[in-house]
Amino acid sequence: MEKGELWWKQIPRPWLIAGPCSAETREQTLETARLIAQDFPHAWFRAGLWKPRTRPGSFEGVGKKGLAWLQQVKQETGLPVMTEAGTLAHIESIAAAGMDAVWLGARTVANPFAVEQLAHALSMLKIPVFVKNPIHFDAELWIGAIERLKKAGVQQIGAIHRGFDSAASGVYRNVPHWDAVIHLKSVLPDIPVICDVSHISGNRLLIPQVAQQALDLDLNGLMIETHFRPQEALSDAEQQVSPASLKKIILSLTIRSSASEDIFFKNRLDELRNEIDSLDARLLELLIQRMSVSRKIGKYKDENNVTILQIRRWKKILRTQHEKGDLSGLSQEFIRKLFGAIHDESIRVQNEVMNPAKKLKSRK
Ligand code: PEP
Ligand code: MN
Repeated sequence: MEKGELWWKQIPRPWLIAGPCSAETREQTLETARLIAQDFPHAWFRAGLWKPRTRPGSFEGVGKKGLAWLQQVKQETGLPVMTEAGTLAHIESIAAAGMDAVWLGARTVANPFAVEQLAHALSMLKIPVFVKNPIHFDAELWIGAIERLKKAGVQQIGAIHRGFDSAASGVYRNVPHWDAVIHLKSVLPDIPVICDVSHISGNRLLIPQVAQQALDLDLNGLMIETHFRPQEALSDAEQQVSPASLKKIILSLTIRSSASEDIFFKNRLDELRNEIDSLDARLLELLIQRMSVSRKIGKYKDENNVTILQIRRWKKILRTQHEKGDLSGLSQEFIRKLFGAIHDESIRVQNEVMNPAKKLKSRK
C-alpha cells in the first residue's frame, strides 16, 4: 500500500466476505472455506465464534477453540480470516491467534460505552475493524461508533450494512436503509461499505436481489453467510447458502462500474443532468411560492382564530396526490414522504406567522 492510499483500494470489487454464521466444527469450517476458496480465491472468510443470542440457551458459538480452525483455514486456503469481537477478552484471544480482521456486531455498536471500551484494544491489533450498523435505525450511532474507533487510533475501518430491526413485518429480516448508507458515505467517504446481504434478507431466496441492489448503490462488497450444509446450520440456517449457490449468486450479478470515461456517455449524461438541474430549480421555485401562500393562509387563520392543523384538509390533499401518484407510477411511500415534508414545512411556516414569539430555536 502506497502512502496516502486508502487501505482497501487494492481489494478487487466486489469484495466478497463469505463463511458460516458460526464456526461449528473443524470439519464444517474447513470444508466450507476450501469450497469458497476454490471459486473465490480473493474472498475473505468469516465465522462467528462468540454468538450474541437474544436469549441464553441456544447455540452461543464454540468460543476460543474455533480460533485454531480459522488459523488452519488461513494456512490451507490463504483466505484472510475474520470473526466478531464483543468483549475485551475476545479481543485478547483474537490478538493471540492473529486474525486478519474483526467486526463489531449490531448489538455491540448499539452501545457507545461498549464501543468506547473496545476501541483502544482494537487499535492495538493493527488489523481492519468492520462496524455493523446498530440494531435499531440510527445512522448517527453507526457513524459515532466509527468515529470512536478513529479517535482511538484504529487505522483500517470498514462499515457493514446489515439492515435495521423494524416493528413492521415485511419481506426483510432486517430492513435495509440505503438512505443511512448514503449518509454514511457522504460523511465518511474514505470508509468502504460492505452489505451484509444475509442478515438483511433472512432467507436465501432474497439474497440475489439485495446483493444486486447493494452493488448498484456502489457499495464496495458483499458479506454472504455460507455453510457447506446450510440446512444443518446451528444458527441462521434459513439465510445461509451453500458454496455452490454462492457461486451461482455471484455469477448472476451484473457488476457495474462506478464511472465511465466514455466521452459520448459523459456528454449525454451531462445533458440529462442539466435537464434535472433546471427541473429542480423549478421545483424549488414552486415550493417557495407554495409556502408564501401558506403564510397568507396562516395570517388568515390567525385573524379568524382557527387552528393551524386541519386534519380533514390534509387527508384530502394526501388522497388526491396518492391517486395522481398511482397513475404516474410513483410509489405511495414517496408521495407520503414528499407531501408529508411539504405539509410539515407549511405548519412550521404558519406557526411562525401565528406565534411569532414562540418560534423555537433548533437544538443543533
Ligand atoms: C453475524 O454476522 O452473524 C451477526 C451476529 O450479525 P449482527 O451483529 O449483524 O446481528
Ligand atoms: Mn448470522
